[in-house]
Amino acid sequence: MSKYKGLTKGFYTTEQVAQRRAGILKHRYKMTVEEYDEILESQGGVCAICKKPPEFIRLAVDHDQKCCPGRRSCGKCVRGIVCQRCNAVLGYIESNGILGAIRKYLKL
Ligand SMILES: [Zn+2]
Ligand SMILES: [Zn+2]
Repeated sequence: MSKYKGLTKGFYTTEQVAQRRAGILKHRYKMTVEEYDEILESQGGVCAICKKPPEFIRLAVDHDQKCCPGRRSCGKCVRGIVCQRCNAVLGYIESNGILGAIRKYLKL
């Protein structure tokens, strides 16, 4: 391995990737990889909103912005795991406080 050190520079081993992911989950959502997998499994492995499976990137953890504004969560307000698109829509609706207006417009 050390023999090829120069060649592998800039690349991450699967172990490093897993460690990084675990670090981010813990840092942002106070969540373990096992907990993430559990939630995702309870959702059937798909986005909680549009029910689509992950495409290129992993599904994102969604949390209540009213409890924890920003990217980080206290860990208690995690609502579910959603795809990047739904996450962006949620973020847009919530940050602009337009959910009521949308419901009214769509007559929901
Ligand atoms: Zn989705
Ligand atoms: Zn919170």
